[in-house]
Amino acid sequence: MKAEVQLGIKLRCPICDRAFDDNLTGVVLPFCSTRCKQIDAKRWLNEEYGLPYESEKIQADSENDAVSF
Ligand SMILES: [Zn+2]
Repeated sequence: MKAEVQLGIKLRCPICDRAFDDNLTGVVLPFCSTRCKQIDAKRWLNEEYGLPYESEKIQADSENDAVSF
């Protein structure tokens, strides 16, 4: 008989959405690989430094308010 019991916890990478085992070598939790970890790090950097459209929108709104007054 073959018992189909899942040992170990299947994790899902938040970057590439790939299921992986946390006991694999090269896994950098919660990511499946160092590559995905670096991708996530770049996303954070982009969010921190790359908000041109939001700041422009805020400036535009305040300019409009100044004109209406
Ligand atoms: Zn991944």
